Amino acid sequence: MATKAGKPIVIKVGSSSLTTTKGRLDLANLNKIAAEISQLVKAGQKVVIVTSGAIASGALHLKLGQPKTIAEKQAAAAVGQSRLMRQYEKVFEKYHIPVAQILLSRDVITNEERKVNAQNCFKTLLKEGVIPIVNENDTVAIEEIKFGDNDTLAALTAGLIGAHTLIILTDVDGFYMKDEKGQSYLVPEIVEIDTKVTAAAGNSASNVGTGGMQTKLQAAQICQKAGISMAIIHGRKKGLINKVLAGEKAGTIFRPF
Ligand code: GLU
Repeated sequence: MATKAGKPIVIKVGSSSLTTTKGRLDLANLNKIAAEISQLVKAGQKVVIVTSGAIASGALHLKLGQPKTIAEKQAAAAVGQSRLMRQYEKVFEKYHIPVAQILLSRDVITNEERKVNAQNCFKTLLKEGVIPIVNENDTVAIEEIKFGDNDTLAALTAGLIGAHTLIILTDVDGFYMKDEKGQSYLVPEIVEIDTKVTAAAGNSASNVGTGGMQTKLQAAQICQKAGISMAIIHGRKKGLINKVLAGEKAGTIFRPF
């Protein structure tokens, strides 16, 4: 089991890895992810999870259908967040690993006092062998103070806690570009995020969640500036998290300069 001794890693679980095609919580995949993360934690790796899925999960239990207004999204998040945490508690209980809910808003980055408080809280939880499970505090976040998407939230969380690597689980194998013949190919490693890379991110977005490749690139830029590696891997394929930590080929890795 490959670990980054001492430094924590952040694993971002996107809505696409957490929900079925019908929009329900995908417990089978959550179990797979939890099994892999538990092995790492047992091997001494400190792990923080950044999760999406609160709005998707809450929307299913309200009668409003797909939430559209901010108030509807916040209501869905309020219902869904506790359901989401209940599932995380359940899947990690099997491995006797406690989890903690941390809901962040942007002031944790901009307000020095809050930042230090949050850092101390993370440190204490990780020292105690707890997995902090982070989401945006959607129910109170207004537009001006929103992280906006969980890719950005995950990158800023990685910076906040001095992470070694951020691993983003998503519904594709990594970052794709096109060759001269217009054929798509997976890029295994990116150091410079130049205009070609930015153009390749296009407007691709998955059906669930708020991000796409553009927000993942923005997250990679935040990580690079903070000296953190970031990987994009498929959230439904086994063994990839360990491969990233072992430095083996998996998905796309963005290296700091
Ligand atoms: N915070 C949102 C939720 O839990 C997700 C935002 C995102 O996926 O980017 O539903």
